Amino acid sequence: MEYSGEVKARDLIPESGGASAGDDYLPGSGNSGYSVSHYALELDYRMASNRLTGTAVITATASQPLGRFSLDLTGLVASKVSVDGVRVAKVVQNTQKLTITPARPIEAGASFIVSVRYGGSPGPRRSRWGEVGWEELAEGVIVAGQPCGAPTWFPCNDHPGDKATMQLAMTTDSPYRVVANGTLVSRTVRSSRTRWVFETTEPMATYLATVQIGYYQSYALPPARIPQYAYIPEDLAADFGADFGGQSAMIEVFEKLFGEFPFSEYTVVVTDDDLEIPLEAHGLSVFGRNHVDGHQGEVRLIAHELAHSWFGNSLTAASWKHIWLHEGFACYAEWLWSEASGSTSAAHLAEHHWTRLNALPQDFAIGDPGPDLMFDDRLYKRGALTLHALRVTIRDEAFFELLRKWTFEHRHGSVTTEQFLAHVSESSDRPTGPLLAAWLFDTALPKLPPRRR
Ligand SMILES: [Zn+2]
Repeated sequence: MEYSGEVKARDLIPESGGASAGDDYLPGSGNSGYSVSHYALELDYRMASNRLTGTAVITATASQPLGRFSLDLTGLVASKVSVDGVRVAKVVQNTQKLTITPARPIEAGASFIVSVRYGGSPGPRRSRWGEVGWEELAEGVIVAGQPCGAPTWFPCNDHPGDKATMQLAMTTDSPYRVVANGTLVSRTVRSSRTRWVFETTEPMATYLATVQIGYYQSYALPPARIPQYAYIPEDLAADFGADFGGQSAMIEVFEKLFGEFPFSEYTVVVTDDDLEIPLEAHGLSVFGRNHVDGHQGEVRLIAHELAHSWFGNSLTAASWKHIWLHEGFACYAEWLWSEASGSTSAAHLAEHHWTRLNALPQDFAIGDPGPDLMFDDRLYKRGALTLHALRVTIRDEAFFELLRKWTFEHRHGSVTTEQFLAHVSESSDRPTGPLLAAWLFDTALPKLPPRRR
């Protein structure tokens, strides 16, 4: 298994700041000895040769004395490393980690700036969840970072709990459009090459950082309360308009239910290639050509990815075992949109999915599913059913008030299941502890509470 074998023994001594951030699900990823506040990436990508070169300047704060520390980087080679502008004493790179010994130890609480020049031919990495990270398309590039793909394109502290802002400058061949997280702040054409600069001002988990490159045409979606951008293959315009035309209304409905949209804009990319599943990124969602049919055949996926703006991007699981806080909520948002748009009610969908789940093996708890099952569809559906059971028990007004408070109080933060349980018990007069404990931590599927009238 890729994540357990590669960390060398010397990385595990305390002065390294911990080779791992202590996430049981990805024990080889992240570093708990420091936290990053900002990534500044200056990258150059040659499409024809799949060659990425660049510099990452990482601003971090030590949470303990650091005689040395590590960054996650895989498939690319670091060529020059400095800390606070000073050449480092030693750099050791293995297949997953760049271990840096600064010229002088870093004191606990001190801020420091690491600069890493690096490059190579980026590609996806294998994981127990399939291939993730940087990937060439037929004509372009996609980055699918979840859960451990970020180190395939930049050195980072790859843990969902360590969120940081980012500035990404990407220079590539001029005919291509670059789409990335945050706001496009400049675009400079120099003959055959164009430099695109994006800024993300809200803290972002590394797995949600993305860059998409392709022959994309901009499509103007109907106005919503926030600007919406779309970049799609030219020939998909009519079908895209039919499928995504309702996204403005979706944003309006979700703002009523979940609270204010957490970003100043929202972007959708449709790749020319088919994709197995759409991808959520920070302020941005990526769909494949196969998800656009002109008949709203995949409208639930549009709702699902949009809902990740609140649940996953803004409120990010502090570690992977809390993944139902992303997927259960995004799945329930599909049902809520269905109900709000006059299609099947959430109650009906809940009954339908309860019956389906009841016929499947019930052999894990969604509150701590284990790494192999964290993206299992049963977790998504049972997570949504958990929220529906809570809604029926405490009634609509209290339920949506509780959700809006949840997204407001933890906006752009990190969250755990325990925090959600505490939030529910503080927010509701009715006892819900045993109900939620059964849904989240028992393996057997609880019965849905009877519908209220
Ligand atoms: Zn999802």
